Amino acid sequence: MKLILLGPPGAGKGTQCKRISDKYEIAHLSSGDILRAERAAGTELGQKAQDYMDTGRLVPDDVIIDMMIDAIKKSAGGYVLDGFPRTAVQAEELDKALFEAAEEITGIINLQVSDGRILSRLTGRRSCPQCGAVYHIENLKPRMEGICDRDGQKLVQRTDDTPEVVADRLKAYHEQTSAVVGYYRRRDKTVIDIDAAGGIDDVTASIFSNLDVLCNRIG
Ligand code: ADP
Ligand code: AMP
Repeated sequence: MKLILLGPPGAGKGTQCKRISDKYEIAHLSSGDILRAERAAGTELGQKAQDYMDTGRLVPDDVIIDMMIDAIKKSAGGYVLDGFPRTAVQAEELDKALFEAAEEITGIINLQVSDGRILSRLTGRRSCPQCGAVYHIENLKPRMEGICDRDGQKLVQRTDDTPEVVADRLKAYHEQTSAVVGYYRRRDKTVIDIDAAGGIDDVTASIFSNLDVLCNRIG
């Protein structure tokens, strides 16, 4: 399966993509995670992205497109894209690359949640710097406060999860990213709308039941 997860920052894309990736045995390709790894490694790409990420703006399309098409080419067995495409230009370039490879996206999952719920989700998010596991101080607590269940590392807060930067990221989402779902609808792609306002497990159950139907349909 080749999937795209769309939705605003804090909708639960990363959380749900990890579960989808485990269940359907496909790669989880997160543009944000790849950028953060590039930054941590001090690469030229990471340095180019730094200012944009810290101020809640989108990294320029050319940087992102090359990075993600490269990751997609290495995941022939299937993938779920998280955080990409985030602009119409990125969606068009992804389509071109898929067409050249005679491939197609199986479906798009659109997580729907209001702005009002997003701030507390993002300011309460904590993640493991080692394995990338994502928690929440209230909604998804680790067994021991501030410590990753999987590897015992101290959890960290993302520097862009402050109220000020979240406001800018939401602005970027509404101005540049929310239209991407319309791009796919206009092309008659399978777009599955999911109410992501409920609890994490309810959202997962809703995604899985829709994906099971999709799997049966494609055989
Ligand atoms: P995204 O990748 O879309 O930015 P995440 O998956 O990282 O979002 O989720 C953001 C934060 O909200 C995390 O701390 C996560 O534990 C929490 N979260 C995710 N989904 C839900 C949900 N349905 N209800 C409450 N909290 C959630
Ligand atoms: P995320 O981890 O998805 O919340 O992304 C964190 C930040 O990385 C965003 O606020 C952007 O600055 C940058 N970013 C991630 N994916 C993209 C993308 N597809 N296009 C542009 N910028 C991106």
